[in-house]
Amino acid sequence: MPRPPIPDSSVRDVIVVGAGPAGATAARVCAEHGLRTLLLERAAIPRYKTCGGGLIGASLAALPPGLPLRTYDTAGRFTFSHNGRRERTLTSASPTCAMVYRSELDQALTEAAAAAGAEVQDTTALNSLDQEGDTVTVRTNRGESLHARVVIGADGSASRVARYVGVRCAQVDLALEAEVPVDERTADRWRGRMLMEWGPLPGSFGWVFPKGDVCTAGVVAARGNPQALRAYKEDFLTRHGLLGPRPLHDTGHLTRCRFPDSPLARGRVLVAGDAAALLDHWSREGISYALRSGRLAGDAAAGVVSASDTAEAEAAVGRYGRQVDAALGAEMRASRTLMDLFTLNPGLVHTALTRVPPAWRSLDRYIAGRTSVAGIMTTPLARAAAAVGTWMSPVPVPAPAPATA
Ligand SMILES: Cc1cc2nc3c(=O)[nH]c(=O)nc-3n(C[C@H](O)[C@H](O)[C@H](O)COP(=O)(O)OP(=O)(O)OC[C@H]3O[C@@H](n4cnc5c(N)ncnc54)[C@H](O)[C@@H]3O)c2cc1C
Repeated sequence: MPRPPIPDSSVRDVIVVGAGPAGATAARVCAEHGLRTLLLERAAIPRYKTCGGGLIGASLAALPPGLPLRTYDTAGRFTFSHNGRRERTLTSASPTCAMVYRSELDQALTEAAAAAGAEVQDTTALNSLDQEGDTVTVRTNRGESLHARVVIGADGSASRVARYVGVRCAQVDLALEAEVPVDERTADRWRGRMLMEWGPLPGSFGWVFPKGDVCTAGVVAARGNPQALRAYKEDFLTRHGLLGPRPLHDTGHLTRCRFPDSPLARGRVLVAGDAAALLDHWSREGISYALRSGRLAGDAAAGVVSASDTAEAEAAVGRYGRQVDAALGAEMRASRTLMDLFTLNPGLVHTALTRVPPAWRSLDRYIAGRTSVAGIMTTPLARAAAAVGTWMSPVPVPAPAPATA
């Protein structure tokens, strides 16, 4: 039975679901376009998010200018090791990677959205959504039915909106991370230096990020063997003297990478950031993807709202897909190639990075935001490494993880 018509006054232009970097950015951009925008967040803001909080150059460049944000350290030295051995520390030509707390970053981005005119409602979760004609209805945990011309799902890696849109994932990983308070001597040892260790499980690595009197340390590997990953985490933290102290947070979180042709929208419902499974396959860097896709989703929403007919609205949604692919698709494809090479032969990647100066210089330029992963993977050195790595390795390329959404 058709629903009774919804009065125009109760239909917002846009509802954005999730106040992480993708959602807060999308909401700010929508509000800057003059759209009547509601940003819904399930948690109370500020909320904790399992994340290293490392901002590479591409993330810093995508932040709104003048965003008030405290940086706890900037990594200028990078220690690499392979299963705890062959450790080597390299120095960055232009230290860029900023260490922040996600609760503070996401709160600052949400405040920027509110300052631009978005209405922010936290402790409110989307439970379900559907669309009819040019209206999308969002039902919340508070029992409300909210209406909008466009919905942007930026509700992270366990996204309900992604399930609705039908996002399909080529790679799903589990990350385990602890925020560990450290004494002065340990803090001095890590100041200005981060560590990346290529781990014992296929495609895995561990990291230590310095944040003054706290270190963020964790491990990531393909989902499916949590026991082995927990054992790796314990060993990794023990070796770096970070297991003893009582952690401030000790959590796990999924990361997901989309198939290149996975949908980014269904009708007037778009997805951005982790919800769209936009993430670097190798480093699992996702903040720059969230910020950039959030901006594009905000612009697309403005196109849909100002469309004079259905065809124009559909064209604006179609443009979103093409723009995301142009901005981030090449990056994801290149990082997939790098991830395949790394999974096949982490020792080769380690040797190249630590012993072949142009390889480190390329990675350093990427961290600084002066090149992309796609840029790195088209260098003759990376192409040669890819060819040698495939030829040398006896290990078959692992099958993609089963899709989840
Ligand atoms: C352990 C770990 C370490 C990482 N380290 C880094 C790093 O150092 N640098 C980097 O660039 N990337 C890192 N990443 C990736 C990065 O955290 C994500 O890519 C990034 O958070 C994506 O932002 P987002 O806005 O899409 O999603 P999120 O930050 O996950 O935000 C989603 C928001 O939606 C809310 N939400 C969820 N469901 C609902 C609902 N139903 N209704 C309303 N709200 C909802 C959530 O509460 C959350 O606030 C890391 C990831 C992990 C797991």
